Amino acid sequence: MAEFLDVKGQDMAVRLLRNALQSHKISHAYMFVGETGTGKSLLADAFAKNLLCESGTGIACNNCKSCHQANSHNHPDIIYLHPEKEGYISVGDIRDNVNATISIKPYQGQYKVYIIAHAEWMSEGAQNALLKTMEEPPEYAVILLLTDNEEHFLPTIMSRVVTIPLVPVAYEEKIKAPEFIALKEKVMPYLIAGHDTELNAVEPIIQELSKDKIDCRKALEVFLLFYRDVLIYKSTRDESLVLLQDALFDIRKKADTIEYEGINNIIKEIETSRRRIEMSVKAEYVLADLYMTIKENDK
Ligand SMILES: [Zn+2]
Repeated sequence: MAEFLDVKGQDMAVRLLRNALQSHKISHAYMFVGETGTGKSLLADAFAKNLLCESGTGIACNNCKSCHQANSHNHPDIIYLHPEKEGYISVGDIRDNVNATISIKPYQGQYKVYIIAHAEWMSEGAQNALLKTMEEPPEYAVILLLTDNEEHFLPTIMSRVVTIPLVPVAYEEKIKAPEFIALKEKVMPYLIAGHDTELNAVEPIIQELSKDKIDCRKALEVFLLFYRDVLIYKSTRDESLVLLQDALFDIRKKADTIEYEGINNIIKEIETSRRRIEMSVKAEYVLADLYMTIKENDK
């Protein structure tokens, strides 16, 4: 079974999960969000194994019974949801495989982990069924939802998961390109807007980006990376994990003035903005709305 080391290019996500494991601050539900190929399943496997290791340290020893079972994909307390039909997770799938078994205590350890791949396949009914469990989960239950698209979920589900965004692997290279660096410099004043920044201060940036859909799309990528960095820095205080190294000063500053919930709200709004641009909503409106979200979430 996977180790965290097998998950390439996702230092931020790995660090967040390791921190949770080692500080024993485990949430009842996580959502790993990332494109195909970013390593969501490997990450889920590694997290489950480390969590269940009998050493109780949050670091898999690879020697105990639990680690052996996890390594052979044969652990009674790691449950994978296999839907009856490919491409669709029904109410019945959730009831039979999650709700009906979650009240049974773990066979051996302190936790019982449910891994739901392609969680976006869940119908609304399935999500509502899962929600019942998520509202009052047993102490030992941990649910991992893996998805490439968080837009499929009910807000009530989103409010109960800790979102772990995975970085498309190609970004590590992309950010070194001179065009990327130039664009980043240009949009920085918009990006770091605080609660006291007025819209007219960033109006020229909005106007310029609105002229060209491609520029706008690229700018949104910069925004996303910036707030992912803010998230990783806030939760780890480890500068070496920051992707946008030359924006470190602003990232640290932002991390101090913004709550986790605010970062989450902004990341979600950036994703929404990307879709609105694709749907040909006027870039001016999209960027003005996003700006308001950034501003409102900065204390
Ligand atoms: Zn172990």
